[in-house]
Amino acid sequence: MTDFAPLIREANLVNGDWIAADSGRTLDVTDPATGSVIARVPLSGTVETRRAIDAASDAFPAWAAMPLGQRVALMRRLHQLILDNQEGLAALLTAEQGKPLVEARAEVGSSAAYVLWFAEEARRADGAVIPSPVAGRKMITTRHPVGVVAAITPWNFPSSMLARKLGPALAAGCTVVVKPASATPLSGLVWGYLAELAGFPKGVVNVVTGSAREIGAEITANKKVRKITFTGSTEIGKELLRAAAGTVKRMSMELGGNAPFIVFDDADLDAAVNGAIIAKFRNAGQTCICTNRLYVQSGIHDRFMARFAERVAALNVAPGNEPGAEQGPMIDSAALTKMEEFVADALAKGASLVTGGARHSRGGLFYQPTILTNAGPDMRFTTEEIFGPVAPVYRFDTEDEAIAAANATDYGLAAYAYTQSLSRMFRLQDRLEYGLIGINEVLIVSPEAPFGGLKESGLGKEGSWQGIDDYLETKYTCIGGL
Ligand code: ADP
Repeated sequence: MTDFAPLIREANLVNGDWIAADSGRTLDVTDPATGSVIARVPLSGTVETRRAIDAASDAFPAWAAMPLGQRVALMRRLHQLILDNQEGLAALLTAEQGKPLVEARAEVGSSAAYVLWFAEEARRADGAVIPSPVAGRKMITTRHPVGVVAAITPWNFPSSMLARKLGPALAAGCTVVVKPASATPLSGLVWGYLAELAGFPKGVVNVVTGSAREIGAEITANKKVRKITFTGSTEIGKELLRAAAGTVKRMSMELGGNAPFIVFDDADLDAAVNGAIIAKFRNAGQTCICTNRLYVQSGIHDRFMARFAERVAALNVAPGNEPGAEQGPMIDSAALTKMEEFVADALAKGASLVTGGARHSRGGLFYQPTILTNAGPDMRFTTEEIFGPVAPVYRFDTEDEAIAAANATDYGLAAYAYTQSLSRMFRLQDRLEYGLIGINEVLIVSPEAPFGGLKESGLGKEGSWQGIDDYLETKYTCIGGL
């Protein structure tokens, strides 16, 4: 496996300097597959965060004023550096996060793609000349970077979640303070290293690791931060929204999900089973767009279950860096305990175990790929996000019933359905209350498309032309007396 040691940075990046926390205290970064410590990063708090925000604020005017062509050239260099280091970055990601190397490689590829996409979008961030309703006036809109952006990212996609924030922020002319998740800070810190290699001016990209509560409190209270972009749980997202109200910042929120996966009688069975495996067990079920609830129509139910169970039972559970690994470890012991609680709750309420249902014989943080059938609305996972390799299956009879059940949640991020009926596809598009809908397809995320949840799953979009919009202010100028 590619050596990732040269990509490890064990210090904060502030104003171009790699520095420890003032206290000298550190946080251990562990490999969830083995429990061994792979690095130590600064345990920073308020003071270090304020310093990073000051650096970003000082760097902002020159960065925003840099000719667009030069900014785009830097972005392209960053894109190329990610590709040149793809293997090392993927190995680093697997080491701290646990996902199979093939998935880590794909994530890093996606990070590169987002950087390139936003470098291109920056060139199209134009304004307008508005037809004036009266004589002697020009009415013009122009677009400007919002200013200092703070990006708070989760541990499940520690590279690409940052790409979707750093990409548009830098392309738009904003400077950034990054706070990566404490479980996976290395894939965040390495962005600082790559930005440095690419030649971004000091202070444009700053990275601070440490206490989420202290860093979050400073970011939300500090007037110099003009925008917060957050990916994480709905609970923390709400806290940040409340805390930031005092300084009226722009807020982008990519929060939790509770994705339904609906299999209709007329589905292509093989395609539905393949889709169900990927949408449920990718990253050990730890993605916000992972299937939470499988709804399977009565006519196909038994055939689907037989094939699904056979495939799931055969999934290769192994450390992410082992060839052929299909499901790695969970991120931490709390995640493992949560799986046990969900399964116990469901079994107590009448669900039946089809496969799995316990910790894996490999020990440590490995959990068996699990299927439960006879799932019902009173079970915890009907309303709560599972975030792990447990697949509850609910049986249904009519399309109306399936859509009503699918929508009966406060979340609205991703939904999937398998059907061969074209008219049903369009009905689903209209009626599913979700920001992302995959029909006969589950790998639907791409830089060209808007990613974002409805209801309590979020605010704003990442990706597509809309993904840069949140980083730009519109000014309207009216010139009269012409
Ligand atoms: P996840 O379960 O995906 O880690 P969280 O919402 O707990 O979801 O965390 C997402 C990110 O938010 C992480 O970087 C985490 O450290 C950070 N975070 C957690 N609590 C806070 C907080 N109070 N203020 C700011 N950031 C926080």
